[in-house]
Amino acid sequence: MAKIRLEDYKPIIRTQNFDEIQLLAEKVSGRQMKMVNSTAAGGGVAEILNRLVPLMNELGVHVRWEVIKGSGAFFGVTKAFHNAIHGQKVEITQQMLDIFKETQEANLADMKFDQDVVVIHDPQPVGLIEAKEKSHAKWVWRCHIDSSHPDERVWNFLKDYIVKYDASMFHTPWFAKQLPIPQYFIYPAIDPLSEKNRELTRSEIEAVLKKHKITNDKPIITQISRFDYLKDPVGVIAAYKIVKKSIDCQLILAGGAASDDPEGAQVLAEVLKASEGDKDIHILNLPPFSDFDINALQRASVVVVQKSLREGFGLTVSEALWKAKPVVASAVGGITLQVIHNVTGMLVHSVEGCAYQIRYLLNNPKIAKQMGIYAREHVREKFLMTRLLRNYLLLILTLHHPKEDVIQI
Ligand code: UDP
Repeated sequence: MAKIRLEDYKPIIRTQNFDEIQLLAEKVSGRQMKMVNSTAAGGGVAEILNRLVPLMNELGVHVRWEVIKGSGAFFGVTKAFHNAIHGQKVEITQQMLDIFKETQEANLADMKFDQDVVVIHDPQPVGLIEAKEKSHAKWVWRCHIDSSHPDERVWNFLKDYIVKYDASMFHTPWFAKQLPIPQYFIYPAIDPLSEKNRELTRSEIEAVLKKHKITNDKPIITQISRFDYLKDPVGVIAAYKIVKKSIDCQLILAGGAASDDPEGAQVLAEVLKASEGDKDIHILNLPPFSDFDINALQRASVVVVQKSLREGFGLTVSEALWKAKPVVASAVGGITLQVIHNVTGMLVHSVEGCAYQIRYLLNNPKIAKQMGIYAREHVREKFLMTRLLRNYLLLILTLHHPKEDVIQI
């Protein structure tokens, strides 16, 4: 992993926040932590860990990141769980639950937990909690999904594991559950210095457009997302087609696969079919770690779209807002923390609404530009990696002072 230095963030964040991170880091320096999730690339969790883990190590917290192993059948099961927690109706069979349990056991046999804190991300590795008895660690389950209206059967199955943790962590109080363990509410974050978000020159942006055979002669509308039904890429095409009737524009749908998401190929096939016959729709199936390209595509856009049907947080929204792009996005899950309607972008509820707001922003460039300025400041205030880092350092401290209202540091 790339070396990251806290110093480099100094010009971007407030001095007070920078000092606070240093103070907290001193207090928890030397602690050992393990993070576990289900994919090293693709999707928001991997995106965050790729930057958070080296940053914490740089500050003296020894963090080890491990990825569980699983078969295609296992990831089919966990994708169904994912959709079920998002509130979709899915069929869950006993065989699926058995596959889930077997994979937990296989991974448990391969892993050691001799750290002070273990953070398990999302449902895929939730069963690793069975190792808690043999470890001295504090265990935290981190949920990245909108769990406000989960399918009861799936939630109850997972809850049997979750209640064994020392604490849980959700994006916002909207996702809170009835649990006998403490719940912490922590927003995700983007890294302003990563290859995905760092400043780019005009020529760097143009080189990426050229590489993907896109000319910059018509306004670009973009959605970056894994090819997943819940990201509604076909709905984005439908909205674009309405806009296209009155404004000559182009659409980029750029995404890729995540190794823990088996639905991607099918969704991509549907997207390709929906875009047939329009040379102004660019479907880019990107390889993992296409961060530089994604950065450039977001920056080349006039409007960025995130038309998700459900969304835990939607890092792609903050990524675009940070690049001073107004975002037209569905009013679902964590998106509504990021898009303040009429201020940092537009919240929508339908294909037609999405088309209407894209057209409005394309027709009103001054308003779009002003929104972009507010958008960047909103992300600076709330959704940068340094804030998440501060939260994690505080979490470590808190976990080791249970039931104390005041912690003297
Ligand atoms: N992403 C990527 N390549 C892709 C698609 C997405 O690197 O082909 C990144 C995207 O830029 C963002 C993350 O993956 O940083 C997706 O996080 P988000 O929270 O938006 O959605 P998730 O995929 O976790 O549901």
